[in-house]
Amino acid sequence: TVLTKAHTLRIIIENGRATGVVYLRDGEEKTLLAARQVIVCGGAFNSPQLLMLSGIGPGDELRRHGISVVHDLPGVGQNLQDHLDFVMAWKSKSTDLMGIGLRGGVNLIKAMLQWRRDGTGMIATPYAEGAAFIRTTPDLNRPDIQLHFVIAMVEDHARKLYTGYGFSCHACVLRPRSRGEVGLNDIDPLSAPRINPRYLSHQDDEKTLLKGVRKMREILQAPALDSYRHRELHTANADTDDELLDHIRARADTIYHPAGTCKMGLDDLAVVDPTLKVRGIEGLRVVDASIMPTLIGGNLNAPTMMIAEKAADMIRAEA
Ligand SMILES: Cc1cc2nc3c(=O)[nH]c(=O)nc-3n(C[C@H](O)[C@H](O)[C@H](O)COP(=O)(O)OP(=O)(O)OC[C@H]3O[C@@H](n4cnc5c(N)ncnc54)[C@H](O)[C@@H]3O)c2cc1C
Repeated sequence: TVLTKAHTLRIIIENGRATGVVYLRDGEEKTLLAARQVIVCGGAFNSPQLLMLSGIGPGDELRRHGISVVHDLPGVGQNLQDHLDFVMAWKSKSTDLMGIGLRGGVNLIKAMLQWRRDGTGMIATPYAEGAAFIRTTPDLNRPDIQLHFVIAMVEDHARKLYTGYGFSCHACVLRPRSRGEVGLNDIDPLSAPRINPRYLSHQDDEKTLLKGVRKMREILQAPALDSYRHRELHTANADTDDELLDHIRARADTIYHPAGTCKMGLDDLAVVDPTLKVRGIEGLRVVDASIMPTLIGGNLNAPTMMIAEKAADMIRAEA
């Protein structure tokens, strides 16, 4: 049975064993007992939050919020990693691209009709139409930057809109060395956890992103785009490293790949063991992107599904 619109408030732990959960549904608190084990899969922000609210986590953080420490596990919420991303946008004189304007409105209506007719045309676009994995220096043995090419001007996760037409390209650092953390803002399970990504806290990430941005600009200056390219939206006057870094520091942001906050391993900061069992507590697993010890150099959805498939195999093998 899958219970939808249910919010888990805490894990019940008795004598060092997870025996169930307390959850909120339709305004009512209810208890669910586990036949065999409890599997936490709240994602890289909420899995550590739920463990901490249940008394499992760094002792100091729990005590600061008046939570009784069931199991002092210092790695819970630590080791947060994410792909930091910088978008460059170009204005275009071409009205063929997606954009806001009279011509764009007419194009959109035509495109909707075309899509209804045969499922093709502009609105059949995946939006991020091109991607590339690149090495910023030839001596690297694997790519360190991923590019996403988008057929519209993008800023602030598309919350900020511009009139006119254009295109954008994202560059993200594939293997960041900066590490952030997730903690608690308060003890309300419905509150957002405290998230400090500490982007660019390791100098290498800044250097890699700067090289990636220069490479991205070089690619986007290609003659094939001459008829589309007009001028850079924000960075037109940024040429020196310092000028570009100012833009990176001001506008680089997540590309939605948080991981690592309940990392798998055997060291003191590992939260789960190699079979994804929470270290020091019986009957409790974490199965989601939070268990990745290091962020993978690509998008996270498929590897997270792989983690779940592997966990299912391990759980079945124990049954
Ligand atoms: C906007 C966006 C775009 C993305 N695009 C891509 C992409 O194109 N390609 C790609 O590979 N990856 C993409 N990703 C990343 C990918 O979706 C995630 O890495 C992946 O979903 C992580 O899976 P997860 O199981 O760890 O966490 P999630 O998918 O976040 O699942 C956690 C679930 O737990 C629920 N939950 C949390 N706390 C509680 C609680 N207390 N009680 C009950 N339920 C709870 C949440 O509602 C959520 O449904 C994108 C992510 C975002 C946000």
